Order: sequence, then structure tokens, then C-alpha cells
Amino acid sequence: MHRQRHAKIVATVGPASSSPEMLRALFRAGVDTFRLNFSHGTHDDHAKVFHALRAMEQEFDTPIGILQDLQGPKIRIGTLREGRLALAAGDRVRFVPEGKDGDAQSIPLPHPEIFAAVVPGQDLLIDDGRVRITVTGVTDEAIDAEVAVAGVISNRKGVNLPGTMLDLSPLTPKDRVDLEFGLELGVDWVALSFVQKPSDIIEARGLIGGRANLMAKIEKPQALDRIDDIVRLSDGIMVARGDMGVELPQEEVPGRQKELVRLCRLAVKPVIIATQMLDSMVNAPTPTRAEASDVATAIYDGTDAVMLSAESASGSYPIEAVTMMDRIIRKTERHKLYRSIVLAIEPDIEETPSHAVAAAAAEVAEMLRAKVIVAFTLRGTTALRIARRRPEVPILALTPNLRAARQLCLLWGTHSVQSREIDSYEDMVKEARDHAVDLDYASSPDLIVVVAGVPFGQAGSTNNMRVLQI
Ligand code: PGA
Ligand code: MN
Repeated sequence: MHRQRHAKIVATVGPASSSPEMLRALFRAGVDTFRLNFSHGTHDDHAKVFHALRAMEQEFDTPIGILQDLQGPKIRIGTLREGRLALAAGDRVRFVPEGKDGDAQSIPLPHPEIFAAVVPGQDLLIDDGRVRITVTGVTDEAIDAEVAVAGVISNRKGVNLPGTMLDLSPLTPKDRVDLEFGLELGVDWVALSFVQKPSDIIEARGLIGGRANLMAKIEKPQALDRIDDIVRLSDGIMVARGDMGVELPQEEVPGRQKELVRLCRLAVKPVIIATQMLDSMVNAPTPTRAEASDVATAIYDGTDAVMLSAESASGSYPIEAVTMMDRIIRKTERHKLYRSIVLAIEPDIEETPSHAVAAAAAEVAEMLRAKVIVAFTLRGTTALRIARRRPEVPILALTPNLRAARQLCLLWGTHSVQSREIDSYEDMVKEARDHAVDLDYASSPDLIVVVAGVPFGQAGSTNNMRVLQI
């Protein structure tokens, strides 16, 4: 079984979708990679979902990707004396370290690193940016501030500090425990929240040690300042528009989305567009026109994958949301302007032999109207190089490495399968032919294009292309 579209769907699992029956229904409706959100749920909840998904893989006989999303250093206010506090514009407030007694206008902030990092003029945004408070003075014991945008705040609401580089590890003690738990389960991807700088990626990689792929969530302006290095050091990125839209002016987010998708194409890394894509489907069986358009825009941008969050995790219509996303993607990819728009942002290709062979394979496949491009790959790199060209012809990635097959589930245009180890040219031809036919990509007398690195069994090079007739 393979999908009738190029772009992939990532869906977050939560109380609305964690039963084996729901997971199965979501997979059938079109989910390619499931996201376990460690901001919510217990280890036991996540382990149950993980094992149900791995059992499903056997049942459907196809790799299914699992992404662990770590909460990261999400900052929250502490407990207010009266549980809530109504703030009017111009009110003076004081943030105090947790445990310090303040008056009713004091806001506890249990994060000492903030007291060391903020300076007057910077903003603290509370509750997804609903309330904006501007710093007027700072000591070790207090941050004095003035309310710029009014609202009511309550216990444990989130705080964003867009202008402030915080001296924080991207991995909190909770994240470290969660990460080890996820790696022991065997997740395929780990997503790192609130990345600020390239060394955050290096630190996380050190802990992961090659056991999973690493995705950087781009949601802070500090990460955008160092984006080239962050992309280079990561295996993929997520455009995390929820927090990004709080940390940056909303009107900047669409342009950033386009830049980030383009940058990932250039860097040969997959990218996910995330958050609020079909948000009204949390409570309604159909999306708004604007949401349908948002999904289509991400597809025209050429993203590898689009993501559902609350829609599939806690909403009332998880299956309808996946079905709707699948329909929008397929319709958009068949639209007469789709190819010219996606190819218009085709990046300049580096002239390495590997990229040249991948590009040639895509071109030859289109020219000959081949039915599939079969890519032999150990770690997935050959498939990434071909997918980067966004060919019209589907890509079938064959790899002996089950983890790589699962990781490729979020790659544009690519269906991945675990195959035998190949050790000869004849073997390669037979394996390519068998899989192309078995998976219904091709039948006699169709043409297929086969790409591989020779000698077999050595990762890194893509140096061989062959046209075969079934
Ligand atoms: P989150 O990340 O859902 O973990 O906050 C995504 C986002 O911020 O968009
Ligand atoms: Mn976020």
C-alpha cells in the first residue's frame, strides 16, 4: 500500500486518538508519521501508543514513523496569590522569584535565569501572547514592569520572551528523562523545542548518539538568527508556528515559513509545517476556507509534511481532520499550477556527483514517463537527494535499515520499504523489479528508473542509475 500523494501527514496522538482502533483509522485515513507530544501524557500513555503503532506496522506491512516531541524549556509563571490577576494597560507589576512573598500584584516566576537575562525595554508575553508586559527595571530579586497589553492571567500560564537570549539548555531535566525513555522505546525522530542556537543541537545530538534522527523546532527569533547552522546540524526542521506566532509578529510567520521550506530544500533536509493548520476542526467536522487554503499554501511551498496537533490529539474530529488534509493535499498536487509553483523555488544544485546522479534520475524518469524511481539507500540520503528535485514520478526507497525506512516516512514523494541487503548488480535489478511490481507501481511493459550507490553496502555516494523495463 502506498499513498496517492507526495506530501506527508504527521498527526499528534492524544486522548482523542490513542486507542489502537483510532490509530488504525488514522493510518488508513492518511497519517504517515505519528507524533508523541511529551508536553502531555505519562510515559505509560506514550509506551502504549508506541507499541500499538509498532504492532500496526506488522499488520499493514509497511514502515510507520514515530516522532517524539520534547517539551523543552517552556517557561511558566508560578501560583498567583489569588489564582488570577486582572491587568489593565499601564498597571505596574513585579515579577518575583518563586517563594518570595509579594503582594497581590506580584507575579511569581520560578525561573532564576530570566532575572539574569532580561533588560529594561524587553517584553514578557503571557498566555500565548495575550498579555504583554514591558520590563522597566531588573534586580536579582525582582523584575519591575508595566502592562502594555491588558488581560487576565492565571496560575501556570506560559511565558514567552522573544527579545531575550536565555542561558538555558534546550533540554530540561524532564526532557532528559523523556528523551532516554523515548530512545529506549525506539522512536525514529526526536524533536527539540525552543532551540536558540547551534550548540543546542550539538548538545542534544550528544545525548541521542545516533539512536534517532534529530529535528529542530524553529519557534524563536534567536534560532532564525542562526538558522543556517541549525539546519546544517539537524536532520530536519519543524516550522513551529504556534510559538513562532507569539515570539514574532504574526505577519512575519508566512514569509518565514517560505524561507524555511526553501532553506531545507537547499540543505537536503525534510521540513514539517506545524500548528493550527485545521484548528477549527478541533470542534467542527469541516475547516474554515482559510484553513483549507493554509494547508494548500504549505503544499505549494513544497513542504515535506504538514502536521495536525490538537485536531488529532484532543479534538472531536481526528479522522475527519486527517481525511480533509489528505484531500486538500491530493487536490493541490493535481492542480495545473502546482508543478510550476513548486519548481519555481528549485534551489541551485551543488555539483557533486551524488546530486548530479539524483537529479539525472529524476529527469530521466520524467522524460521516459517511468512509473517509479527506485532508490537503494542505507541511511536515506539517496532518497533525500532525489526528493529534493520534487519529481513528478514517485520515489520508492529500499533500505535494509528499518530505522531509515521509518525515518523516511515524512519525506516528500517517497514510499519507503525495508528490503534485503544487496550485494550485486543482478540482485539490485531483481529487488527493484520485485518491489515495484509487488507495490503496484509498475507492470509489464512499464519503465522504472533505479538509483544506487556502488559498491553496495557503503553509505554516502549516489553514483549509479539504470533504466529497466518490467
Ligand atoms: P508545540 O510546538 O505544540 O509543542 O508548542 C509547536 C508550535 O509551537 O507550533
Ligand atoms: Mn511550540
